[in-house]
Amino acid sequence: MGARGQRPIRVFDTLTQRLGPLPVSSGEGGGPLLKLYVCGITPYDSGHLGHAFTFASFDILIRWALASGVGVRYVQNVTDVDDPLFERARRDGVRWNELAEREVRSFRSDLASLGCRLPDVMPRVSEEIPAILAAVERLAAGGYGYAADAYYFDVSRYPGYGQLSHRSRRSMVRKLREEGLLGVVGPGAKRSPLDFPLWRASAEDEPAWPSAFGPGRPGWHIECSAMSMRHLGEQVDVHGGGRDLAFSHHESERAQSECLTGVVPFARAWMHTGMVRYEGRKMSKSLGNLVNVSQTLERVPAAAVRLYLASHRYRRDWSFRWEGLDRAARLTERVRNLQEVARGGGAGPTATAMPRGAAAREFAAALNDDLDTPRGIRALRAAVRDRDAAAATWMLGILAGDAALS
Ligand SMILES: [Zn+2]
Repeated sequence: MGARGQRPIRVFDTLTQRLGPLPVSSGEGGGPLLKLYVCGITPYDSGHLGHAFTFASFDILIRWALASGVGVRYVQNVTDVDDPLFERARRDGVRWNELAEREVRSFRSDLASLGCRLPDVMPRVSEEIPAILAAVERLAAGGYGYAADAYYFDVSRYPGYGQLSHRSRRSMVRKLREEGLLGVVGPGAKRSPLDFPLWRASAEDEPAWPSAFGPGRPGWHIECSAMSMRHLGEQVDVHGGGRDLAFSHHESERAQSECLTGVVPFARAWMHTGMVRYEGRKMSKSLGNLVNVSQTLERVPAAAVRLYLASHRYRRDWSFRWEGLDRAARLTERVRNLQEVARGGGAGPTATAMPRGAAAREFAAALNDDLDTPRGIRALRAAVRDRDAAAATWMLGILAGDAALS
């Protein structure tokens, strides 16, 4: 299913650690359809370049699927019921839902300014409580949960726990401790350090919903199982997100989803994006080295930001450097000049179908090979050298999305 009879698109699945054909479902009318769920943000702080890299990488997957004749249904959730959001709202003296609303708006505007297609659905936890509770009730009925100081998922009921993130029990417990998610284990609390809450009590200033498990709010992971099933059915083709989500979030989603429905696998492929560092160090709020999307857009055009992000393979970790952004801006400029000359006062090249020529063929082969965008950019440079405006325009449209038009 590659563009114009090229090899099919192959992607790397985190679970099997292998390359395989991009799984697709059959859409209405019988055509291929990619059912894609990407874990979204907790809207409590402005998005940094690490988020942008994840969503821009999936935007390339979407554009490449569409260019290859595959339809896409894209769901990305918003975790608007979550501890960091409540903590931030408390600190700033604003209501949690006002903070969430403001940050969702700013995130959508970041996505749009980077030329990413907005998801078909952006379900929010606070608006999906009935579906989430139904999922918890179904797990309870199947004997997969137990009540203690919260209502927990019993990880011992799912023998494959740890397979997705390829972690030993010890390494899973260590990561939970590092992230402050370990909680208390023992009488009256959870039975095993790996068990996680499906439903929990809310603090006084947090939202609470009535339920059979007492008034409260969902645990973190169950939302994505419930929302994914509600908007995409019991099985998705690709489930994605940043690699830091593989454990514990995706591991837990996989366990509870497969226990819930018996449909195995819940996701036919798991795709994870690498972490972005800042000049070699972890990008984090506490180190004060977060780079925001708006800072990059103050310096270079959106298409250049997209090319810079795409100059890194989606599943590798990499380090942000301002010089890299400038280099991408020079390439964008060269494509623009080429388009200007080709236009010659008339209508510009609008390449939507795959153009002919060696550079375009090389680009298609690169993208089919697990979205090898650095190799794709080399093909773009070759197209620019060959003064092939149609091919360069087509490639920029895949790599930079709608930012290619601005
Ligand atoms: Zn999720």
